Amino acid sequence: MTHPTVIEKLAVLADAAKYDASCASSGTTKRSSKGVKGGIGSTEGMGICHSYAPDGRCISLLKILLTNHCIFDCHYCINRKSSNVARARFTPQEVADLTMAFYRRNYIEGLFLSSGIVKSADHTMEQLVETARILRHEHQFRGYIHLKTIPEASPELVHQAGLLADRVSINVELPTDSGLTRLAPDKNARQIEGAMGGMKMAIAQARDEKKRFRHAPTFAPAGQSTQMIVGADGASDADIVGKASRLYDGFRLRRVYYSAFSPIPDASAVLPLKRPPLIREHRLYQSDWLMRFYGYSAQEVVQATDSMGNLPLDIDPKLAWALKFREHFPVDVNRCSREMLLRVPGLGTRAVGQILASRRHRTLRLEDVGKLTVSVAKVRPFIVTCDWRPTLLTDRADLRAMLAPKAEQLELFAA
Ligand code: SF4
Repeated sequence: MTHPTVIEKLAVLADAAKYDASCASSGTTKRSSKGVKGGIGSTEGMGICHSYAPDGRCISLLKILLTNHCIFDCHYCINRKSSNVARARFTPQEVADLTMAFYRRNYIEGLFLSSGIVKSADHTMEQLVETARILRHEHQFRGYIHLKTIPEASPELVHQAGLLADRVSINVELPTDSGLTRLAPDKNARQIEGAMGGMKMAIAQARDEKKRFRHAPTFAPAGQSTQMIVGADGASDADIVGKASRLYDGFRLRRVYYSAFSPIPDASAVLPLKRPPLIREHRLYQSDWLMRFYGYSAQEVVQATDSMGNLPLDIDPKLAWALKFREHFPVDVNRCSREMLLRVPGLGTRAVGQILASRRHRTLRLEDVGKLTVSVAKVRPFIVTCDWRPTLLTDRADLRAMLAPKAEQLELFAA
């Protein structure tokens, strides 16, 4: 039997990694190899390597699995032990060599490394850590490293990952504990949250030490993130938003990534046959932004959902909330608080900043606001300016229909 070449393994393991959306090289510290003898890499450049899901979405930067062998049997995963797929396995040295070769050719900005669980959680975690160690200590690699950690591995090994990586992630996988038990029987929600809690404490402690001692080691400077699969179980958007909010509050996550479940070849019978519409994933990202940057609580986002707890697909959650709570509008852009401006549909954080800066010097007209937004028609019913007052616009029964994109447009995004 001939052994597969590195390129053949790469074809299998890069393809197997494409279902994971939880990587983005954001939020780390600035670092470069300038002045480091024999060092290479920098976290300051733009990423140039992307990965594409089968539906054409650009979901991430470079990413590979150490192996797609796995002793677990998560129903939604193409790499589960009962799946009939081609398998391959890299050594840590091979991954490090590939990363360096690609980096030198300017193909990539760093490494996103995940793995199926081979032999045991500890053994796999050791291999992930060893890869990062070779890169950091043998190649003096200063580029971005994102390591997926394994919650079942020993806390010491997970800690070592944090000392070497910019970002670490631990996937919660599914929004509800019952969904996890049903679809990932080998995983345990308590164990996952325990690992996240340990990571949160280690990150906070390292930051504290760094403030006191300049040479204290950095620990996951880009924080921790997680991923939730959307549409594989019966969880509603309200369940997902509630879970994300608890994760942000409880574990100081940098990001929660939402990944619309993609039907996989040879799928388990317990999975839905159809994928959820991609626009659902987009609406969840919008609701995530509302909580992180627009001052909405999770309960307020949930207020924008329908009777089944799902966000409307035809309009964004901010507009849905404003249409439900019309009594808060219109707001006077020349007087109202930043918090209320952020709630005006069609005004982003940047536009709000510009309005606040401009109104210190002059009184704003509708035309001025129109220059800051893509659609003045969307903003108009919700604001008052010195030359515009919407006469009972927010009372109109057909306001939603007036503001929703036309059905033909929606088809562009529908799955
Ligand atoms: S642990 Fe589960 S999700 Fe991860 S590779 Fe194995 S089967 Fe897939």
